[in-house]
Amino acid sequence: MSKKLTSREEDYSKWYNELVVKADLAENSAVRGCMVIKPYGYAIWEKMQAELDKMFKETGHQNAYFPLFVPKSLFEAEEKNAEGFAKECAVVTHYRLQNDPDNEGKLRVDPEAKLEEELVVRPTSEAIIWNTYKGWIQSYRDLPLLINQWANVVRWEMRTRLFLRTAEFLWQEGHTAHATKDEALKEAELMNNVYATFAENFMAIPVVKGVKTESERFAGADETYCIEALMQDGKALQAGTSHFLGQNFAKAFDVKFTSKEGKQDYVWATSWGVSTRLMGALIMTHSDDQGLVLPPSLAPNQVVIVPIYKTDEQFEAINKVVNLIKTDLQAKGISVKYDDRDTFRPGAKFAQHELQGVPLRIAIGPKDLENGTVEIARRDTKTKAIVAIDNLTSTVENLLEEIQKSLYQKALDYRDSHITRVDDFEEFKNVLENKGGFISAHWDGTIETEDKIKELTKATIRCIPMDTKDEEGKCVLTGNLSKRRVLFAKAY
Ligand code: AMP
Repeated sequence: MSKKLTSREEDYSKWYNELVVKADLAENSAVRGCMVIKPYGYAIWEKMQAELDKMFKETGHQNAYFPLFVPKSLFEAEEKNAEGFAKECAVVTHYRLQNDPDNEGKLRVDPEAKLEEELVVRPTSEAIIWNTYKGWIQSYRDLPLLINQWANVVRWEMRTRLFLRTAEFLWQEGHTAHATKDEALKEAELMNNVYATFAENFMAIPVVKGVKTESERFAGADETYCIEALMQDGKALQAGTSHFLGQNFAKAFDVKFTSKEGKQDYVWATSWGVSTRLMGALIMTHSDDQGLVLPPSLAPNQVVIVPIYKTDEQFEAINKVVNLIKTDLQAKGISVKYDDRDTFRPGAKFAQHELQGVPLRIAIGPKDLENGTVEIARRDTKTKAIVAIDNLTSTVENLLEEIQKSLYQKALDYRDSHITRVDDFEEFKNVLENKGGFISAHWDGTIETEDKIKELTKATIRCIPMDTKDEEGKCVLTGNLSKRRVLFAKAY
């Protein structure tokens, strides 16, 4: 086994980068800013996808697929969206390579093969989708249109980190069309709630549901809802966004419908997305200095069984019992891996499964066979117990449930103890530097103040929480009147 991870306390960012690679989740590639997601990491992403996909379908959405390329003329149609993304766009200009006459053995773009119209590699798909919706929507009977796409997108990010911010990332993007403003607003809020439920129940990550300020809003949106999570280093992470797009895209692409009353109006829109960034959120919420800690609902293997033996006879006897255990566990829908590789010693296997965050490890040796027991170890608490084989399945079921709950509770306790109410700017800076986390403070509602606070402290307004109460106060920076508190934090 390679040497130990850097500890979180020593260097949180190094710990994260090492963990992602050593736990075999992803690695950097030959393309700057683009990652290779390895099978173990991809298996976790697939579990997220499966659950989200189910939740989208339960709320009435269907999957479809739209092109990777957006003709520039379509991309620029919704001006704010185009302006917001322009600086991060990869653009295709040619469609052919040829041998380079000046450089033998090398290729160059064929100057004759210049595209008539440049193609933007989608950083998000509103443009291509709304151009398509124009042909799909004529009447109120065509609405609502509730579509989701699973895809990759490209945003030419300058500072990248595996999963958290990559130049190409995987995501889903919902794009819906509605007859009324009210319905579209409800949809945007509904999908933000779906994300929050998914994060909390499935990923065991507590999130704050909120609304973004104007300067943090999605380019082209009238309102952006979000879920914000808090990482173990006290920095916030935007884990998902849901946008109310008003009639902006309908106007840009001339998508009108005839209402029941025979009137023509522009269609109302939403879009919403979560990305492979969620993998980063998962890692940074639960993992420790020994490696990954996975909530059972997302673990590719919930249980791993390691045989401990010296002789072939012992191994065979263990195999028989393990097969029975495995069948029982699988019958209850529990995913089990029997690690019977003879190329690694048990200690090395333990270390690997610990690093990869398998929630439960069962070890079984000749002594256990005699006693009808196994040793069961929890990854999250690192506690071990000897338990009877007889009721092992129900023991495992209970433990998995308990781990899922306790990971959430631990993250919630951490999060809640890192929301600090602050009314004074010196204290604001002090809390930010020495404690981190969310700061709940009054803000006068102006972009200038928001920018100034960012410039002075690097903290941004993560959101105006949905459950916030109106409360008159004075802006933490300017002392001007404020109607409510917002959440500030340094963020990824
Ligand atoms: P947006 O379309 O900007 O609202 O982003 C949709 C989702 O993708 C949000 O959850 C973002 O946090 C996430 N996201 C945005 N940029 C990146 C990136 N470069 N890498 C990974 N995830 C991203």
